[in-house]
Amino acid sequence: MSFFPIKDSSGITQLVKSTIAIEGEVRVRPEQSRRDEGTGQIEVQVNKFTLLNPAHRNMPFIPSDNQTLVNEDLRARFRYLDLRRTALADNIRKRSQVARTVRDTLHEDGFLEVETPLLLKSTPEGAREFLVPSRVGQSTAQHDGKDTPLFYALPQSPQQPKQLLICSGAIDKYFQIAKCFRDEDGRKDRQPEFTQIDLEMAFVSWGVDPKICSSDEWRIGGHEVRAIIEKLVGRIWQQVEGITLPSSFRVITYNEAMARYGSDKPDTRFALEIQDITTSLPTHTQALLEDLGEILEAIILRPSESCSFLRANDECSYQNERNVSRSVIADNNLLDWLSDNRLINLKLSGEEHALLNKTLGVSSGDTLWLSRRRKVPEGGSTALGRLRTRISELAHARGDYVPHAVPHFLWVTEFPLFTRADPDKEFLAHGRWSSTHHPFTAPMWQDIEAMYAGRIDQVRGQHYDLVLNGVEIGGGSVRVHDAAMQEYIFSQVLQLSDSEKTSFDHLLHALKCGAPPHGGIALGFDRLMAILCKTPTIRDVIAFPKTGAGTDLLFRSPAAINKEVLYQYGVRPTRG
Ligand code: ASP
Repeated sequence: MSFFPIKDSSGITQLVKSTIAIEGEVRVRPEQSRRDEGTGQIEVQVNKFTLLNPAHRNMPFIPSDNQTLVNEDLRARFRYLDLRRTALADNIRKRSQVARTVRDTLHEDGFLEVETPLLLKSTPEGAREFLVPSRVGQSTAQHDGKDTPLFYALPQSPQQPKQLLICSGAIDKYFQIAKCFRDEDGRKDRQPEFTQIDLEMAFVSWGVDPKICSSDEWRIGGHEVRAIIEKLVGRIWQQVEGITLPSSFRVITYNEAMARYGSDKPDTRFALEIQDITTSLPTHTQALLEDLGEILEAIILRPSESCSFLRANDECSYQNERNVSRSVIADNNLLDWLSDNRLINLKLSGEEHALLNKTLGVSSGDTLWLSRRRKVPEGGSTALGRLRTRISELAHARGDYVPHAVPHFLWVTEFPLFTRADPDKEFLAHGRWSSTHHPFTAPMWQDIEAMYAGRIDQVRGQHYDLVLNGVEIGGGSVRVHDAAMQEYIFSQVLQLSDSEKTSFDHLLHALKCGAPPHGGIALGFDRLMAILCKTPTIRDVIAFPKTGAGTDLLFRSPAAINKEVLYQYGVRPTRG
């Protein structure tokens, strides 16, 4: 519904417009009323006006870009009305343009677009899946036992189909703009169904010995995959933003990212870097920390730091971080600021303080954020990493800090291949090792020996994450192409049971049939579009999104199914 002002001798009255057809003459507007944007140069001299379909009198709300937006639930319920807002419609249009660039670029590079099944089988790959009950086989021999319903699972990603396509030898460069499904507990700005730009390539490299080439880019394999993504992302940024990106992106290892920025997806647009200050402490304290396998880290803010960060630093609260302390250095505590610090419980002499201040270059007016953590980083962020982000967010929210317009893309590599620290994977792992990404990621060749020797915590994967301004926008890896190694990972490292392993039999068999070395990646298309559309939520770039809790208020799903239908699928409600 739109409104037109109509003017007569008694004043201006608003006409409410529904769907209309207009016949008339398109002509150039008088010079003084011409505008450059959109159709501002022309107007229509109306001769005939037909009402094709009137709009309801009581619309639930009037979609408008100018007014404050009505309640989110109401807009979600009437998404078809909300989509009339120019901002949303523009996002959907931009999404289509970017999808086209993806297809054009990859086709030009020899990739084939292949669709893979949505009705697949449940496999212990990492994420919790959505199950689809099926009537297939209910009355046939395939159905082993009358009381066991059969289920498909929706793919958490087309990981196995794409690897099998490459194993087939028929295709050596695959891509798909693929729908994926993960049944994750309602998390901020995640959707249970989402879209990935998914690709896979045959004959990717397995990394180069640093003795031959010392560049970080070559330490792990798959640079062919990273190169095509750099080209693709470069082209998108050129088209949408008019920005020329560097032809290749910076590479940083997981350990370096965790040490300097406290995050495996660091925002490198600003410094506030973290320092390991353990070796500046008196030797007895160093030995103590060493025995515990811990380090002491600091972010030091000096008065010379930009005032936007200094102001945010003053306001920053850190109550939620038990493992962080703040010391504001002044003349009266210069020689005892670390004494009685609850994190380290030390009594340092004035001389020891003076030495420490000298090594760290600490003087009156500095602020030191300290944190003690395990030397080997665990998970995606450290306490100081979260604090660093918080300070920048506060400065940004105050309008003090405006991040650099040129985007900071980087590759994070050399992640630990296996983990015990991810609570999201515990439902599958039950105390066993789990794959940091997925079980098909190849170890770095430098660490293969450690893997076979059982030093699992020392094995790094040939995985690469693409990070943009502190947001992970994609990830992929070189895959295990050797069946014996894949079998070893399933049985000996992940300790999958026989029935868990059965779900990978076809992949193991395909690897045994002469599969080429291969690798790939997936970019989160929704997140990428949210960044390009400069909106904080991926819901603004999806035509029909779900709410944060995973429900669809428009189609009203998920919904209960009546008992009779459930029985046809062999599914019995537990109650009622
Ligand atoms: N399937 C992986 C994911 O969805 C991406 C990849 O390894 O290609 O994260």
